[in-house]
Amino acid sequence: MIWNKEMECADRETMRAVQLERLQATVKYEYENVPYYAAKMDKAGVKPEDIQTLEDIQLLPFITKEDLAANYPTGLFAAPMKDIVRIQSSSGTTGKPKIVGYTQGDMDDWGEAVARGLTMCGIGANDVAHISYGYGLFTGGLGAHAGAEAIGATVLPMSSGNTARQVMFMQDMKSDVLCCTPSYALTIAEAVEKAGIKPEELQLRAGLFGAEPWTQSMRDKIEKGLGIRAHDIYGLTEITGPGTATSCIENNGMHICEDLFYPEIVDPNTLKPLPVGETGELVFTTLCKRGMPMIRYRTRDICYLMDGKCACGRTSIRMSRVFGRTDDMLIVKGVNVFPSQVETVIAKFEELTLNYKILVDRKHNSDTIELMVEFADGLEIDDIEFVENMKRRVEHALRDILQIGCKVRFLNAGTLPRSEGKAVRVEDRRKYE
Ligand code: ADP
Ligand code: ZN
Repeated sequence: MIWNKEMECADRETMRAVQLERLQATVKYEYENVPYYAAKMDKAGVKPEDIQTLEDIQLLPFITKEDLAANYPTGLFAAPMKDIVRIQSSSGTTGKPKIVGYTQGDMDDWGEAVARGLTMCGIGANDVAHISYGYGLFTGGLGAHAGAEAIGATVLPMSSGNTARQVMFMQDMKSDVLCCTPSYALTIAEAVEKAGIKPEELQLRAGLFGAEPWTQSMRDKIEKGLGIRAHDIYGLTEITGPGTATSCIENNGMHICEDLFYPEIVDPNTLKPLPVGETGELVFTTLCKRGMPMIRYRTRDICYLMDGKCACGRTSIRMSRVFGRTDDMLIVKGVNVFPSQVETVIAKFEELTLNYKILVDRKHNSDTIELMVEFADGLEIDDIEFVENMKRRVEHALRDILQIGCKVRFLNAGTLPRSEGKAVRVEDRRKYE
C-alpha cells in the first residue's frame, strides 16, 4: 500500500511544480518573518522574487549548525509563540542542543511523513507498533508515535530502556513492528537470545531503525537476531525528526518526502551542488514548515541521491544510507576516519560482535587510535595464541581500510555498556587534554 499516492508517485514535472510553488512561498515567508535570514539574503543580494525556477535555490544562502547556535534558543522561529504547539530538541550528539518549534501544521506534516514510512514497510492499522526510541525532547519517540497513530496502528509507547520489559511486552502484546535505534535493536536482539526466545516465536516482522548511522552488516545481524525485515528511517530535528526519508521493501535507498523536504547534495568543501549519484553533504530545504523553516540547511550527513522509479512504484527521489556525518569524522594522523569504516571491518569477523568502541588519544605528540571490541559469546580471551592471531588479522584488515595503524584490544562478551539510544562509538581523549 502507498499512503499518499499523489505525492509519492507523482511524475517529475508535477513534483517539480509542487516544489517550486512551495519553495517560493517558503522563501517569501522566511524573508518576512526571520530577520536573521533576511539579512543573510540581503547580503547575498537575493530577493524572494528572484526564485523563478527550482535551480534558483542555489542563489540562496545556506543555514548551518553555527547559525542555529548563534540564534539559540528561538531566534530562527518564524511563527509567533502562540502558534507554536510543540518544542523538540536535538539529542545533542554534537555540541549545543538545537531547539525547534512546530506549528500544528508542522506536526501534521511530521505525522504524515512517518505514516508514509510505516506504510512503505508494510505496516497498517491492524499492527502493533512497539516504539522504543526515547520519548521526550528527542524527536525519535514522539515522531514514530505520531506516524503510528496516523495510520491507526495500536501504539505501544515503550520509550527506551528496561530491555527485559521490552522483550516481555514484545511477546505478550505481539508487537508487529519495532521502532528504535539500530544499536538498541541489537541490544534487544541480544536480550531476546539470552531469554531463550527464538526469533520465529516473536510476532515481530519489521523494524524501522534510524537516528544513527548503521551498516549493511548491522542490518543483517538485526534481521537475523529478531527474524524481521529491517528498514532505514532518516531524519533530523532541524528538518522535522524521523520520517524525512524511509527505505521501502526493495531496500534500495530511502524515499524522501520530497514534497515536504527538498534535498540537494553539495561538495562539503566548495559548497557547489553535485549531480544525482555523487556523494557529498546532504542539504535540505523545508517546503511546508512554518514554525521554523529551514532553507538550504547543511545537515553534515554524507550520502548520495538516487532518482528513477523504484520497483515499489514510488517515484520519489531516494537517498542512500548515510555513510557518516562530517561531525563524526575523526582526523587521526591527518587521515579521515569514519566509525562506519571500522564497523565494516569488524563485521567481517565471525569471532567478533558489533559491540565496539574507538578510543583516540595523543601520545608524544602523535595521534593514537585503538579499537576495543567484544568477542562473540563463548570465545575467551585467555587463549593467547588465538588472541594473537586474531589481533594480527583484525589490525591488518583495519590498516587496509583506514590507511593508518589501529591497535586492537579484545574484550569478553558482555563487557561494554549496551546502547539504549544512539550508541556512543568514539571517545576522543585528545579534546580533554
Ligand atoms: P543530533 O544527533 O545531531 O543531536 P538528532 O537527534 O536530530 O540530532 O539526530 C539527527 C542526526 O542523526 C542526523 O543528522 C544523522 O546524522 C543521524 N541519523 C538520523 N537517522 C539516520 C539514519 N537512518 N542513518 C544514519 N544516520 C541517521
Ligand atoms: Zn521503493
